[in-house]
Amino acid sequence: MNTQSLAGKHAVVTGAGRGIGAAIAAALAQAGARLTLMGRNRAQLEAQAGKLATEVHVETCDVTDPENVQRAFGGAACALGDVSILVNNAGQAESQPFTKTDLGLWERMLAVNLTGTFLCTQAALPGMLGAGWGRIVNIASTAGLKGYPYVSAYCAAKHGVIGLTRSLALELARKNITVNAVCPGYTQTGLLEASLAQIAQKTGRSTEEARAELTRANPQGRLVEPQEVAQAVLWLCLPESAAINGQAIAIAGGEV
Ligand code: NDP
Repeated sequence: MNTQSLAGKHAVVTGAGRGIGAAIAAALAQAGARLTLMGRNRAQLEAQAGKLATEVHVETCDVTDPENVQRAFGGAACALGDVSILVNNAGQAESQPFTKTDLGLWERMLAVNLTGTFLCTQAALPGMLGAGWGRIVNIASTAGLKGYPYVSAYCAAKHGVIGLTRSLALELARKNITVNAVCPGYTQTGLLEASLAQIAQKTGRSTEEARAELTRANPQGRLVEPQEVAQAVLWLCLPESAAINGQAIAIAGGEV
């Protein structure tokens, strides 16, 4: 790979302050892209921006809020030009048995994981259409490809992300814009640590027992690293990946 394959491209990564989003931002920056980092926590975003050896802009943005999203994408375009790469990574995972899944939890999961992806894509797409080039990568999950117990709202939202991906990919197929989803299995991040704590608290098991159970779900017997997800995203964003469209690619050691 040409190490500056994304030189001149402006990439927006949502939820870029930590975890998988931070790894994605680092991989895109290494390939020469200019970056806008979005998320709700400015201090975390700025700390992350300081680690990247490229032109970086920071926008605080709650992806569930349409006005926030409009303002943030307007600011990003003013700072670094039209967005050519959008990575919809911001997400949250709350677990409850279905009988305890109230409307609030259901709506929170749909809002951040699915509606956030919709809103950010609507905000970035006009610039891509104008430029005649674009890459959209949605960070779904293996929970978008199969069911898991106790996370029905999260699973429904991530299945929705994959449906949106497949549909939009067909709509944009002749516009030089690709739309793909990346579906990590259990990945070593803060989100996973929070899930382990929740499982331990609800089942009375230790966090290490909970970790061992999630690790067993991966046929490779390990957790995925954020950098492994980031490399798949980078590959989808390369100019050479133009024929890969509408796919949902599992990064899960063979779990799916
Ligand atoms: P983290 O909790 O480490 O990071 C989540 C990121 O999303 C944070 O940067 C957070 O920033 C941001 N975020 C959360 N809510 C919002 C919001 N309303 N608006 C803007 N940003 C928001 O999680 P991961 O890195 O693990 O997760 C990243 C993505 O990967 C998610 O979509 C998740 O569903 C998916 N995924 C993760 C897996 C795992 O095992 N870790 C497995 C499969 C998929 P801030 O709080 O500052 O807003």
